[in-house]
Amino acid sequence: MGTQDTLSIIKPDAMKLKYSGKIIDFIENKGFTIIAQKKIVLTKRQAEAFYTVHKERSFFNELVDFMISGPILVQIIEAQNAVSFYREIMGSTNPDEAEEGTIRKLYGTDIQCNAVHGSDSMENANIETSFFFSKLEMIK
Ligand code: ADP
Ligand code: MG
Repeated sequence: MGTQDTLSIIKPDAMKLKYSGKIIDFIENKGFTIIAQKKIVLTKRQAEAFYTVHKERSFFNELVDFMISGPILVQIIEAQNAVSFYREIMGSTNPDEAEEGTIRKLYGTDIQCNAVHGSDSMENANIETSFFFSKLEMIK
């Protein structure tokens, strides 16, 4: 598959619990390189735009309010097969159902406050990395 980039977000729950350092360490220990990283607070409009694929879902408004509830750490991370490999080490959406040793099992609280986001396809990884980072910030 070769080297890929994917978008990772350390969500407000994990930031508030001061797990960001542990999660960065976890990601790097799995072999990812952090290509770009920034701490930001999303506006409501930005969060709605980012999660637009979920706009018809029952949890959409709740998800947007959660994602704007505090700072997040947005990262572009690189590895072999990064998109599916990151999804694997993140674990299931619901931390209760996530495999032992995954980020969501270790640092997630519930189905909403599940510590991290990771792109779910290469196409979405491209869309999501350029949503947050300019070409200039992505230069390797
Ligand atoms: P994933 O983040 O694993 O790709 P989804 O794309 O299905 O999961 O959902 C996006 C985010 O919306 C989840 O990570 C979680 O924060 C939130 N979410 C998903 N399902 C629910 C739910 N049933 N109730 C509340 N929040 C949810
Ligand atoms: Mg998703």
